[in-house]
Amino acid sequence: MSEQMVTIPTTARVDQPVEGETSRSMPDQLGNVAGANSEELAERLDRTSGRDATEGPVKKAYIFWLSGMSCDGCTISTLGAEEPSLEELLNGALPGIPTVVLHHYALAMESGDHFTHAMEKAERGELDGPYIIVYEGSITDENLTLEGEPWAAEGSLPTWAPADQRRRISTPEWVRRLASGAAVSVAIGTCATWGGIPASDGNPTGAMSLMDFLGKDYRSACGLPVVNVPGCAPVGDNFTETVALLLLFLNGQVPLPDFDELGRPAWLFSETVHTRCPRGAWYEEGTFAHEYGEKECLAEIGCWGPVVNCNITERGAVGHMGGCMVAGGVCIGCTMPGFPDKFTPFYKRPPVTTPATLLSRLHGMFVRAPRRTSQLERNREPRWRRETPSGWAIGFDTTTVSHNVYEYFYHKLEYLRSEMPGRRKAVEKYRSGYLTPAEAAYGEDYFKMLPNERATEARRRGVPQRRGLSPQADGFDTPLEEEE
Ligand code: SF4
Ligand code: SF4
Repeated sequence: MSEQMVTIPTTARVDQPVEGETSRSMPDQLGNVAGANSEELAERLDRTSGRDATEGPVKKAYIFWLSGMSCDGCTISTLGAEEPSLEELLNGALPGIPTVVLHHYALAMESGDHFTHAMEKAERGELDGPYIIVYEGSITDENLTLEGEPWAAEGSLPTWAPADQRRRISTPEWVRRLASGAAVSVAIGTCATWGGIPASDGNPTGAMSLMDFLGKDYRSACGLPVVNVPGCAPVGDNFTETVALLLLFLNGQVPLPDFDELGRPAWLFSETVHTRCPRGAWYEEGTFAHEYGEKECLAEIGCWGPVVNCNITERGAVGHMGGCMVAGGVCIGCTMPGFPDKFTPFYKRPPVTTPATLLSRLHGMFVRAPRRTSQLERNREPRWRRETPSGWAIGFDTTTVSHNVYEYFYHKLEYLRSEMPGRRKAVEKYRSGYLTPAEAAYGEDYFKMLPNERATEARRRGVPQRRGLSPQADGFDTPLEEEE
């Protein structure tokens, strides 16, 4: 490739705004191939969405995504969200949501001082819209660092100053600077919501949650305590949906969403994993896996699902697909306060499981056998009582005496005080007196109206020749030939 063909600019002219964009007064920034900062990108995306104007009083909102002791899993989850997706939040696809300017350390258009400049403006109250802070990862105790170097930091201040006059700014310090002015503070992921893995036993960094850091009395500019969307990593949709609703709330489009006593979105975290687990029926029938890879309930090999608030069994991990039990894993309580310590050792049966599964086995003893009998019976057409007309049905025709006795009583109970559909052996018509159109038209002679060939075939198969064609219509009938 010749040198002339390489056109990527090393210096973007960010001081020359496109018509209609926010004017810029910062120095050029190296390497910004888009030639725009996050705010201008948001404006461009919003314009391409086609919407004329945002409804509501808030035209623009800012999100400052800060990261502490984090594995970036929350970011990855959010990128995978689909309902709504991050793109939909940012490109104006959702009605009633203001233009969203996202300042994320990995997704930002800017770098260096250009990146932290917007946070400085937020702190000084110079933004033209409310801002939300999102914290990912746990917050460290910066008093424990060596030589003042932060555990987790974003940028250094003062901006535009020579390097030797700057100080790195830890993300906890950014929280201190920004939290009181934030419309809402959102903790994403279990590290930020409760402390998570960095705060587990040992905890050399003094890691804690955003709630612990800000304290019980913390209220955002809108009067809200910290909003918590836990999970390790969280379901991306849980986060984007919560943020979408908060943006709608800030814009006066919906009332404040319902949060529980821990600041979790109540509609997402009020049920347990177990409530919607695809393996729940195995638990109910008292059938349990003993090894990973088996299809049954995982309670006896370490699943905490019955006591863990998490909706992954309903929502899936990404795009309604996957999730722990679907993928064969036990629930280790990753959404819960106290995770991981309170749920260790992982993959060991939780103490309460033994009596619970014992009762479940007992219950299962009484329900499994009748269900299998009933299931077998429900897999048959009434007219297949004697024979199943399928080459696949090898061994399917055999029913035991107990099966027949059980089904006899089941059948009686099923239609107790109700009308059984189909014609009765005794009267050969519907109890209600209903006649099929063919019967109504031809009466007793219906059978005679069949073409000869079909009549012969019907006789050969034992189809009754008296009024109406009703071979074994009630499931306990026998072919007419046998009766006679
Ligand atoms: S695998 Fe876990 S969550 Fe699912 S049914 Fe069994 S105990 Fe409940
Ligand atoms: S099912 Fe358990 S381990 Fe899986 S995401 Fe939910 S809380 Fe975490």
